[in-house]
Amino acid sequence: MDEFEEIVSSCTPRETGPVADTYQNTVGLACPSCEEPFDDLVVVKEFTRLNLSELMDVCATVHDGNPVLFTHRK
Ligand SMILES: [Zn+2]
Repeated sequence: MDEFEEIVSSCTPRETGPVADTYQNTVGLACPSCEEPFDDLVVVKEFTRLNLSELMDVCATVHDGNPVLFTHRK
């Protein structure tokens, strides 16, 4: 299991859809990019249709060719 899979398996699945899968960080995991705890992990499957409804800080990485976002709400 790599680091990404460990993070996903520790988060709570919240929403699965054609555009993105969202997992909620209910256990206070640190973001692998900035090492601050993140709120949600979003695996983006169709990036052009993604519409983030809230203004938030986002750290981005790529896993298996899909953009993965770690959101930080203020
Ligand atoms: Zn971050």
